[in-house]
Amino acid sequence: MFADTGWEAPETYEYLNTLETMLGIKIHRVERPGGTMIEAIRERAGFPSRRIRWCTKELKVLPIIAFHEMIRLRDDTDTVSVVGIRRDESQARADAKSFEFNHESNWYTWRPLIHWTIPDVLAIHHKHGIPINPLYRKGFGRVGCMPCIMANKTDIRLVAKHYPGRINTIRELEQFSVAERVRRNALEPGRYAHKGGTFFLAGKRNPGEVTPIDRVVAWSKTKRGGKLPLIDETPDSGCFRWGFCDAPTGEEPEPIPAASLVRRTETRFERVARLIGAHLNESDE
Ligand code: SF4
Repeated sequence: MFADTGWEAPETYEYLNTLETMLGIKIHRVERPGGTMIEAIRERAGFPSRRIRWCTKELKVLPIIAFHEMIRLRDDTDTVSVVGIRRDESQARADAKSFEFNHESNWYTWRPLIHWTIPDVLAIHHKHGIPINPLYRKGFGRVGCMPCIMANKTDIRLVAKHYPGRINTIRELEQFSVAERVRRNALEPGRYAHKGGTFFLAGKRNPGEVTPIDRVVAWSKTKRGGKLPLIDETPDSGCFRWGFCDAPTGEEPEPIPAASLVRRTETRFERVARLIGAHLNESDE
């Protein structure tokens, strides 16, 4: 499944087509009923933020829950959400469980790749002749919204370099939001008491502090520090809970040659079978 925020890089959309063709599978695209990221920002005349991260919920979680519910009702069955995150991707994912029941969404979550390493990932791509998402070759550490509202300095610099059109869109949305809030406040005094949130990237230490995208881009091109450290470069837990939108930490491990792959005594399928068995035994008790 692919929850389409409408805010991904073109390469990612092409990559989905590539995967469908090469693997002979259908990837179900789901999206927010009222439209994707741009429509949601225009409706609110504001952006999601670290503090109020409505983007994950509206653009990913709710459409995916709706899809699961549709399957459950249609087939009268339980559903399992299979998520491809790995523990060594980030600190936030280091304790992720392989298998658990998610009461909020009422489904099982299975993370079959949880113990995989980067060499494992590269090796399986190589083995089956599947290319990696081209964004990795452009220097991006992660694939997701382009950019994420929690993007770090490097991400912003890369977005400005490879996707200047997206920076233009953000600038237009920022200008729209500021003007639209003034207009709506005139019709309905006090509707937008909070002045922040009308710019794409907000500071982490002070979420109310916001910065127009052009200043952020200029800052992203400075050496370490710069004069606009509003966007923190430290790790953030992101939307890890759902396995969708973990923020980059800037400390992602370097790829290691596949040759150094260490053979395991237990395959992932054996391990997951064992975990499922243990989980079911616990449930019985
Ligand atoms: S990747 Fe970032 S911008 Fe996109 S939905 Fe997740 S938190 Fe929001």
